[in-house]
Amino acid sequence: MDKKSAVIIGAGPAGLAAGYEFIKQGIGPLVLERSGTVGGISRTESYKGFHFDIGGHRFFSKNDDINRIWQEMLGSDFLQVSRLSRIYYQNKFFNYPLRPANALFNLGPVESLLILLSYCRARFAPQPEESSFEQWIINRFGERLYRTFFKTYTEKVWGISCKEIKADWAAQRIKGLSLLVAVSNALFGGGQQAKSLVEQFNYPKYGPGMMWQRFKDHINAGGGKVMLNCEVSSVRHDNGRISKIVYFNGKEVQEVSAENFISSMPISSLIKLLKPQPPAEVLQSAEQLAYRAFIIVVLIVDKAVLFPDQWLYVHSPKVQVGRIQNFKNWSRFMVPDQSRTSIGMEYFCNENDPTWNMPDHELIEFAQREMAEMGFGPASQVIDSYVVRQSYAYPVYDSTYEKNLQNIRNYLYSFKNLQTIGRSGMHRYNNMDHSMQTGILAAKNCCGERHDLWTVNEEKSYLEEDRTVREIPTVPEKVLIKAFARMDKFAFATAFGAICGLLVFSATMWIISRGGDVLNSHLRLLAQYFIGYTVTVKGAFIAFGYSFFWGFLFGWLFAYLRNLFLAIYIYRIKRKAELLSLKDFFDNF
Ligand SMILES: Cc1cc2nc3c(=O)[nH]c(=O)nc-3n(C[C@H](O)[C@H](O)[C@H](O)COP(=O)(O)OP(=O)(O)OC[C@H]3O[C@@H](n4cnc5c(N)ncnc54)[C@H](O)[C@@H]3O)c2cc1C
Repeated sequence: MDKKSAVIIGAGPAGLAAGYEFIKQGIGPLVLERSGTVGGISRTESYKGFHFDIGGHRFFSKNDDINRIWQEMLGSDFLQVSRLSRIYYQNKFFNYPLRPANALFNLGPVESLLILLSYCRARFAPQPEESSFEQWIINRFGERLYRTFFKTYTEKVWGISCKEIKADWAAQRIKGLSLLVAVSNALFGGGQQAKSLVEQFNYPKYGPGMMWQRFKDHINAGGGKVMLNCEVSSVRHDNGRISKIVYFNGKEVQEVSAENFISSMPISSLIKLLKPQPPAEVLQSAEQLAYRAFIIVVLIVDKAVLFPDQWLYVHSPKVQVGRIQNFKNWSRFMVPDQSRTSIGMEYFCNENDPTWNMPDHELIEFAQREMAEMGFGPASQVIDSYVVRQSYAYPVYDSTYEKNLQNIRNYLYSFKNLQTIGRSGMHRYNNMDHSMQTGILAAKNCCGERHDLWTVNEEKSYLEEDRTVREIPTVPEKVLIKAFARMDKFAFATAFGAICGLLVFSATMWIISRGGDVLNSHLRLLAQYFIGYTVTVKGAFIAFGYSFFWGFLFGWLFAYLRNLFLAIYIYRIKRKAELLSLKDFFDNF
């Protein structure tokens, strides 16, 4: 690709990171953004001095380059926050991840016992089939725990029954089940390190929008141009190359040509804008890619403290709200007046479903009712409110998405000067850092480097999981497998018995060869235990038999106990790893 000029569609984290990289390479890109603000889903909205995100956005990355860029952009305005986020269920707050003492206290002894029994049942008599999310979780945590902590929240997020969600999806999300990783963590402390990192995150003083505003300023100052309120309406191509982009700037339709084009708009929308149109099967694949939408109802409450958490997961089936953000606990600068609190009631929905189409005033009343029902105060305490609807919030991984995405990718490969980046741009569960990374690599590709953007965040949806795996010291798998292999009881007992037998046999023969029993009175004492033993050749064989028998018995018992203790030890490590990995499970919706 020629490095003369570049047009980027979308000024979210991915598009802005691509712009940042172009500036570094001495190219001034044009960034076209449909909305009136930068940041995409990671933007910050403001209402009467109250700032809020579209869902709370933690800045948390394993990628040193991304961390460095974030620091470079914000410096001391990049706050470090100690995380507190609990689960709200049955009017009680559960620590997250679950802590046994806290869970026992909240659930009570009877429910805790029932959960334990249901867990034992699942372990000893698992469901034979494991194709759905429901079956997968029940087999690992028991039915009762599944109903308490998994079912409601997951169904709120995805809007379908857990029976319809594929088990692979759960397996991908709940990582850390690998025994090798668990054992390595336990032995070398990687888990502890991972844990402490997850418990802190960065956050811009005035919300994530502050970060993206700095990116915009940086690109504009470096010779590029970020243009807001410019919606791309058509992408023209000719001879395997994108020739120009048509956009509407609010007043008139404009066209722009360039050597390189990078798109972070939803990949399915991009397909529909291509002129000439792609083949029918590609259009059909684009039509079938699904996205989950999201509504945040911000309630400004005339109360200084509602709860200490940055956010709460709401697992209670009685209310529809899935999560509640408390923005002043992310940064106190998010509210203009510390005697007031702004909470974000988050509702997961589909675009154009009844929740999405509910008028704002009804949504606000609904959210106020739910807030009161949960015990956070009466509706009369809400002094103001604001609603934001976000489409394309979550790419849906349904049973057909892989095939559809592959069709689209195959078609887009035919364009030599077009790359798609980011979350919706790649229909991938990318967080901000992954999205940025794809943007940076795409810009580098325009400057002669060769990077496969689809390997970013491949198979790994969540950065915490990624980190857990990466930060444990690498221990050769073979060593661990050998160290923790089961001992063959019969083989060990036979070997140990044979060694004992041979030792006593050889000792007896040695004494005989040195002049008889006068030489060793200790060995003669064996006769008290081995009936019929004498320091003679015949006695040596008798001693072999006795020693073999006791050696065999001891060896068998040793191997049995060793296997038993090892199994208990490994089981405990595995449970710990499961609980740790569960922490990430809800974080990433
Ligand atoms: C509720 C929620 C919570 C999240 N929490 C976190 C978190 O804690 N940490 C984290 O790292 N990530 C989080 N994420 C993920 C994060 O929001 C995304 O990874 C990130 O915003 C993706 O950036 P992007 O640039 O790829 O896409 P987007 O943010 O979607 O940006 C794409 C941009 O393209 C523009 N666009 C679309 N169509 C056109 C068009 N036709 N013409 C011009 N412009 C167009 C859009 O307006 C938008 O600005 C969360 C996501 C959600 C939904």
